[in-house]
Amino acid sequence: MADEVFDIAVIGGGVVGCGVALDAATRGLRVALVEARDLASGTSSRSSKLIHGGLRYLEHLEFGLVSEALHERAGMLDRLAPHLVRPLPFLLLLSRRAWERPYVGAGLLLYDTMGTTLGRARGVPGQRHFTRRATLKRFPGLRADAFTGSIQYFDAQVDDARYTLFLARTAAAHGAQIASRAQAVSLVREDDRVVGVGVVDLQAPRRPVIELRARRTINATGVWADEIQALAGAHDQLRMQRSKGVHLVVPGDRIDGSTALTIRTEKSVLFVIPWGRHWIIGTTDTSWELDRAHPAASRHDLDYLLGQVNRYLATPLGHDDVEGVYAGLRPLLAGDAADTSSLSREHVVTRPLPGLVSVAGGKYTTYRLMARDAVDAAVEDLPEAVPASVTDRVQLLGADGYLPRLNATTRIAQASGLDVAAVHHLLERYGGLIDDLLELIEKEPALGRPLEGAHGYLAAEVVYAATREGAIHLEDVLTRRTRISIETFDRGVAAAEPAAKLMAGPLGWSRKQTASEVEHYRTRVEAERNSQLEDDDESANRERLRASDIVPTIALAYPPRSESGGESS
Ligand SMILES: Cc1cc2nc3c(=O)[nH]c(=O)nc-3n(C[C@H](O)[C@H](O)[C@H](O)COP(=O)(O)OP(=O)(O)OC[C@H]3O[C@@H](n4cnc5c(N)ncnc54)[C@H](O)[C@@H]3O)c2cc1C
Repeated sequence: MADEVFDIAVIGGGVVGCGVALDAATRGLRVALVEARDLASGTSSRSSKLIHGGLRYLEHLEFGLVSEALHERAGMLDRLAPHLVRPLPFLLLLSRRAWERPYVGAGLLLYDTMGTTLGRARGVPGQRHFTRRATLKRFPGLRADAFTGSIQYFDAQVDDARYTLFLARTAAAHGAQIASRAQAVSLVREDDRVVGVGVVDLQAPRRPVIELRARRTINATGVWADEIQALAGAHDQLRMQRSKGVHLVVPGDRIDGSTALTIRTEKSVLFVIPWGRHWIIGTTDTSWELDRAHPAASRHDLDYLLGQVNRYLATPLGHDDVEGVYAGLRPLLAGDAADTSSLSREHVVTRPLPGLVSVAGGKYTTYRLMARDAVDAAVEDLPEAVPASVTDRVQLLGADGYLPRLNATTRIAQASGLDVAAVHHLLERYGGLIDDLLELIEKEPALGRPLEGAHGYLAAEVVYAATREGAIHLEDVLTRRTRISIETFDRGVAAAEPAAKLMAGPLGWSRKQTASEVEHYRTRVEAERNSQLEDDDESANRERLRASDIVPTIALAYPPRSESGGESS
């Protein structure tokens, strides 16, 4: 990266930054992206994993946002990534007075209609109304006296970390250069123009600062966006506010049902979402100004979520049922509202200095529009004409060949010796790229066996993550390439050593390095567990920061006080 002048340098490897890289690369531009940690390690692996219009934004009268998001949903389902994004039925529970059904029904009708504007297919079926009895038939695990009926509607679901990874890989396939564990620490300036980024290779022994030269730089750092803007001396351009959202994961057999639930709470909504052989329950929405890299869930957050969901479940859940917990930070544009749940999810693009563009706010579902708008702003004053965005027609890797292989599941199972469920699992995680994994297994049949300690995954997936998916540390594999860290009661501790041994060969780790990766992972799990025993955010944050990062980042000068322990702890 140091030897070239790029058209676009992107800071941040979340869904927005990787979306920017893909957008720019497919316009024929030379692109480099730097990510300080692992791809998707910020908010983009910690969401509710819904590709949705956001029903509740209708109540806030944000029609433009909802309509755009529904259009994006259809594009991802139908064209861009049918292997990664799937339609998901929801039951919206009704529990109030007679006016609620017509009121919510009208909202859902609008939602469905917006999804089909201009005659485009919305990609999912329309709404259906159910009585209490009919609802219980579909979701026997509900408490009969907790609701009066339901309305079924459809949205879509995605593995957020994997989608971001596929964006990055697709951008790389179109020529973008992508580096993880590479932190932007300064902006290279000529007069008042930004002409690149000072980047530290955090993995290199002496951590040199490399000058990454680019004609335009795009800041896509989510909740860190104001920190990068401060490097440009433009403190006031973007005022960000961070809101913490916590999710719990419980095993599939703890809740008797097969569809997702949407429950309106006093302030927001609670989702109960099927997730493979598990359920995800979330989320909270509270202001957070502590460490940004490791937002911590407290006992209070867990109690709140269990309390809310138990109001509706025939068999209540307890702390012992919780397999996994994760917390993420919403990158909200600061407004006057004291309550973060009412802040808008619209995005903004700003130009703090010539040569620098920032993009912030928004939501996962609308990443493509954010990326398009950011690149449009960046290239606007280039002397040559740059083609318009084409990402609404660029399929992600793995989309091609997915459907024919899905139809051939049984044949693939017979030929490979894997069972049908395993082939299905691979297809939904790799799409048409399943062939790469089958090849690995053909060469080394032992890789077709379940990973020791985490039977939902195959050993081959760990090797593939280390060789083809840019995973360079154990936590990259256990937390984001797979979701073992939230899908097992021991949070991946039993799988840590077997997975590290599988990574050691391809990554050239010594025994000492392998042991250190395992030790780091265990310490991190312990710190997370301890933080979840604390009653308040400050104590949870302190406990979480007791575990150091496997690759510490550099604390930037801004903000000086609010990050307890700094990002490097
Ligand atoms: C609890 C919760 C639930 C949500 N649920 C949904 C949902 O269901 N559907 C939906 O559409 N949206 C949802 N969202 C919103 C959505 O997840 C976010 O809007 C989106 O993931 C933000 O992506 P991003 O790329 O802007 O930020 P991030 O994913 O945080 O990426 C920013 C990246 O920048 C990197 N970075 C920071 N500083 C530097 C530096 N100096 N150098 C290099 N790299 C740097 C970080 O390490 C990070 O990886 C949810 C959000 C939360 C918190």
